[in-house]
Amino acid sequence: MFDGHYDLLTYIYMNKENISEVREHCNKIFNENITGGIFNLFYMSEQEMYDELGIEAKDINIIENLKVVKSIINKKNLIPNNIKYTFGIEGLDYLKRIGDMEELYKLGVRSVNPVWNNHNKFGTGVRPIKIINKEKGLTKLGKKLIKKLIKLGIAIDVSHADEETFWDIIEECEKLTKGHEHIGLKKSGKTSYLYNRKIKPKIFASHSNCKAICDVPRNLTDKQIKAIANLGGIIGIVSVKDFCSKDSNANFEEQYIKHILHIKDILKNVDNIALATDDMTYYKIEPEYYQNMNIFNQASVSGSITELLQENDFSKKEIKQIKYENYNRFFG
Ligand SMILES: [Zn+2]
Repeated sequence: MFDGHYDLLTYIYMNKENISEVREHCNKIFNENITGGIFNLFYMSEQEMYDELGIEAKDINIIENLKVVKSIINKKNLIPNNIKYTFGIEGLDYLKRIGDMEELYKLGVRSVNPVWNNHNKFGTGVRPIKIINKEKGLTKLGKKLIKKLIKLGIAIDVSHADEETFWDIIEECEKLTKGHEHIGLKKSGKTSYLYNRKIKPKIFASHSNCKAICDVPRNLTDKQIKAIANLGGIIGIVSVKDFCSKDSNANFEEQYIKHILHIKDILKNVDNIALATDDMTYYKIEPEYYQNMNIFNQASVSGSITELLQENDFSKKEIKQIKYENYNRFFG
């Protein structure tokens, strides 16, 4: 399967002094079950970066961090050649200039979450805090960032964005697809340069489930799911227990499949459904929580989900779509 959200880059960065452990970890996860994925570097609020990882905000440089990880991956051959993958940045709090997205693109980034749970200079995340004298949603700078991402062809990941930011992002994408705005590019003839180049916004939720099944801030309303699908995007159903059911005694596999069935039900097909583990068993803070947060473990995830889909009457074609083909189309 294509794992639409796995923080492999953060794991490598955190363990860069212990390459033999990293190698062992990669050998374990890149088994025959995983065909590809979006591998992320994630960034939290300044306080969390300091408290949980001991990193001071002034020392964070996304480009340099990614270069370090990328060189380890290449030198140590950590990702097998048959894996289809792209890099993602989860949380752009520490992006110094919007223009730096070009450098990140060159380094292989094709997916970003403009905001993580906290609010930042680009917009507001799902964490409920009072914002004084400030509107929720995308900031002016956030709108500029979205235009830049669309222009570069980088997918915009709306998992972690709050509803206001989500709808502002959709609005920016729709402006473009309806041809109201041409993100500052020169027009040639009647159609825009942008349109001629066939650049279209890529919007997706790499690791979010359905609010209709489990009403937590990280999940999506039916209206949001339909808006993503309308733009040809992806909803990656994530195997984090907290986003599958609020009942800690639930049968989580049963709950997991309910989210996939719900989207199939409201969209009448599986063209926009994909999968994500967000497996964080490597995370050393609160190990008890992180060891038990996922329904599936990385080694068995693909087989388990296939069985669940078969038991619930998904066709062979639908299972392939959900497991990797929809993502192949999305990143094209
Ligand atoms: Zn996340």
